[in-house]
Amino acid sequence: MSVATIEQVNSLISPKVQKYVTSHRRMLINGDWVDAKTGDTFHVYNPATGEILSNVAAGDHADVDLAVRAARRAFEEGPWSRMTHGQRGKLIWKLADLIEENLEEFAEIESVDNGKPLAVARVADIPLATDLFRYMSGWTTKIEGQTISLSSLPQEYFAYTLREPVGVVGQIIPWNFPLLMAAWKLGPALAAGCTIVLKPAEQTPLSALRLGELIEEAGFPKGVVNIVTGYGETAGAALAAHPDIDKIAFTGSTEVGKLIVHAAAGNLKKVSLELGGKSPNIVFADADLETAIQGATNAIYFNHGQCCCAGSRLYIEKEIFDQVVEGVSANAKRINVTEGLNPQCDMGPLVSEEQLDRVLGFIESGEKEGAKTVIGGHRLGDHGYFVEPTLITNAHAGMKVIDEEIFGPVVCALPFEKTEEVATQMNQTAYGLAGAVWTKDISKAHRFAKAMRAGTVWINCYNIFDAALPFGGYKQSGWGREMGREVLEHYTEVKAVCLKM
Ligand code: ADP
Repeated sequence: MSVATIEQVNSLISPKVQKYVTSHRRMLINGDWVDAKTGDTFHVYNPATGEILSNVAAGDHADVDLAVRAARRAFEEGPWSRMTHGQRGKLIWKLADLIEENLEEFAEIESVDNGKPLAVARVADIPLATDLFRYMSGWTTKIEGQTISLSSLPQEYFAYTLREPVGVVGQIIPWNFPLLMAAWKLGPALAAGCTIVLKPAEQTPLSALRLGELIEEAGFPKGVVNIVTGYGETAGAALAAHPDIDKIAFTGSTEVGKLIVHAAAGNLKKVSLELGGKSPNIVFADADLETAIQGATNAIYFNHGQCCCAGSRLYIEKEIFDQVVEGVSANAKRINVTEGLNPQCDMGPLVSEEQLDRVLGFIESGEKEGAKTVIGGHRLGDHGYFVEPTLITNAHAGMKVIDEEIFGPVVCALPFEKTEEVATQMNQTAYGLAGAVWTKDISKAHRFAKAMRAGTVWINCYNIFDAALPFGGYKQSGWGREMGREVLEHYTEVKAVCLKM
């Protein structure tokens, strides 16, 4: 593992992306690229160096208000509201094509802004974003109401339902998959015919702003998608509380999710939340161990553990505990932690200094409470936010490392003896986003899939996503679902129409 010098990191950025990421960036409101009303900006950092990359407009209440007005006009008066469903679908498909044409640039922006390996952004973030837009493009012509067989009304009554766009939508997204999270949010909202004010995370606004350029190029009417950059406590809070927003969709921490719910209460806007997790990943002794060990490695270390569904509680049947811990540790030691643009990079830096401190703080708290750090546990280098892939044992429920979401490359391995024991432990969490079981016993696999209180269960695989598969949480992991046909429920209202003939 080696962390390159600041000069080496900077020398890897292509001239095109260098120019893009280092120039002052404005927000997209009503089809114009504008500065914040206050003129304020905030810094975006390169997590591989800790250096400032660019200055971005710091939107606040007044900017959010302008964006909401633009979105309202576009929803009620603009060409968007008169378009056929098919025309809307074509625009969304075109946006996917444009992203694909610019895949290399997007992958590089993501890597520089977020820290993730370029290779990962190339094969995961960007293609998953285009898939999502294409999948949602197909839905534009299939969002339908029903004719209703009335229950007790006499025959002269005829009734049907219409499924209509919910209206102006505020969307607040996190920094772990910046473009992909924008796609998960924008895709269904556009398919349903809503108009949008999107707020990217302040750590990683750059790919969303580039997406804004392509939204214009694709030909979406002005005001349909507005992108307000800024801090969560200012721009984000203003969006969540705005009285003329019909629905707020949020992805981020459970803590902030609760603030969103409070802020939304003012006008009772609809709320959907995709929040944190502490996902159980259960390896039984009868699993194909080679695959399970590789799977458990990827479950936690993919995207540096900065996934809400990361397999962070690794339950291992006692007789194979040492073997799996050694296997995952050996894999972890082979992970090349270095700057994201380095072709040899397996894991880049964490996104920010705040995350670096947070993750190291969790490891320290585990050690203080008696847990054992088997591998990793330290910062790498003295610039950038690199952390070693870490595996912890001797932890138990009640410790912060088991109960709370770390959101970093830190897995806790826990032995279990009995199937019933792990069936209880897996659900002993405030979260319920995802989980997995590794076993060759198909009945056991399905029993666990049913018993797990989580929105996604993987069997003999992990971190597998598809635009058609709904994703979201039970319990404090959220409200509602992203993707699949389910997400469209959040962006539509149902109207019952009843006629007396
Ligand atoms: P993290 O802790 O991982 O940065 P957050 O939940 O804080 O995750 O951030 C996710 C998104 O929520 C970001 O776009 C952030 O700006 C936004 N956000 C943070 N605080 C608030 C808030 N009080 N109101 C609305 N949005 C917020």
